[in-house]
Amino acid sequence: MLLLGGTSLARRLAAAAASRTRLRVISSLAGRVTRPRAPVGEVRVGGFGGPDAMADWVRHNDIDAIIDATHPFAARITATAAGVADRTGVPLLVLREPGWAPAAGDRWHWAESVSQAADLADALGSRVLLTIGRQGVPAFAHLRRPWFLVRSIETPADPLPPRHELLLARGPFDLDGERALLRRHAIDLLVTKNSGGAATAPKLCAAREAGIPVVMVRRPPLPDVPTAATVDEALAWLAALR
Ligand code: NAP
Repeated sequence: MLLLGGTSLARRLAAAAASRTRLRVISSLAGRVTRPRAPVGEVRVGGFGGPDAMADWVRHNDIDAIIDATHPFAARITATAAGVADRTGVPLLVLREPGWAPAAGDRWHWAESVSQAADLADALGSRVLLTIGRQGVPAFAHLRRPWFLVRSIETPADPLPPRHELLLARGPFDLDGERALLRRHAIDLLVTKNSGGAATAPKLCAAREAGIPVVMVRRPPLPDVPTAATVDEALAWLAALR
C-alpha cells in the first residue's frame, strides 16, 4: 500500500496497518518539514514529479492500494492521486478527519480561500492569532494595520506581515495553554483553516469561551473518490479489497 502522509492521522494508520495487517506499507512524505515525525515502517520522501511520474512509481512498486491521508488542504496531491487511481486502476481511498463545525456560542466567519481570510482579518481583527500553516502566511503580508501572532511548526515562507511575532510550535495544544495564549497576547481574532482533528481544536474552544471571533477557511472540495473518517474505516476498506 502507498500511504500518502504528512499528518498524524497517516502516522496512526501506518502504525495500525503494521500491527493489524500483513500489508507492506510505504508512507510517502512531501519533505516540507525539516524534521518530520517518522511513521512506522518504510518511508519515501519528496514529490513524485507530477501525475505521470506518480503513476509510473505506483506501477513500478507493484502498489495494490493507495490511501491518501494527507492534510485536507493538500489539494494538489489528492487530485494527483485521484488521477493516478483512474489511470492505473489501483483503488484509492481518501482518509480525512471530519472538519470542525461551529458550536453554540461560536462567532465564525467562513472564508473560501486564504486570501479571503486575509481580507476578513483586516476588517475584523487588531491582534490576530494566525494559525494557517507556514505556506499561507504570505497572503497576510500586505496587511499593515493588524498585529499578528503567527504560529507555525517551522519558520513561515516570506514575506511576513510587517507587524508580527513568530511562535514556532507543534501541536497538540491543550485548552489551558490556548486560553493563556489568547489572554497573554490580548488576541481579538483567530484565523485558521478547517483542518479538523483533536490536536489543534482547543484553540476553537478557548476562542468561544473568550467571545473571540474566528475566521475559518473552508476546505477545498474532494475529488469523487471513496472516503473514510477513521483509521478503523480505512482498515476495513483495505480488508474488503482482498
Ligand atoms: P499539495 O499542495 O497538495 O502538494 C504539492 C506537491 O507536493 C504535490 O504536487 C506533490 O509533488 C508533493 N506532495 C504533497 N504531498 C505529498 C506526499 N505525501 N508525498 C509525496 N509528495 C507529496 O500539498 P501541500 O499543501 O504543499 O502539503 C505538503 C504535505 O504536507 C502533504 O503531504 C500534507 O499532508 C502535509 N501537510 C500539509 C498541510 C497544509 O496545510 N497544506 C498541513 C499539514 C501537513 P509532485 O507533484 O512532485 O508529486
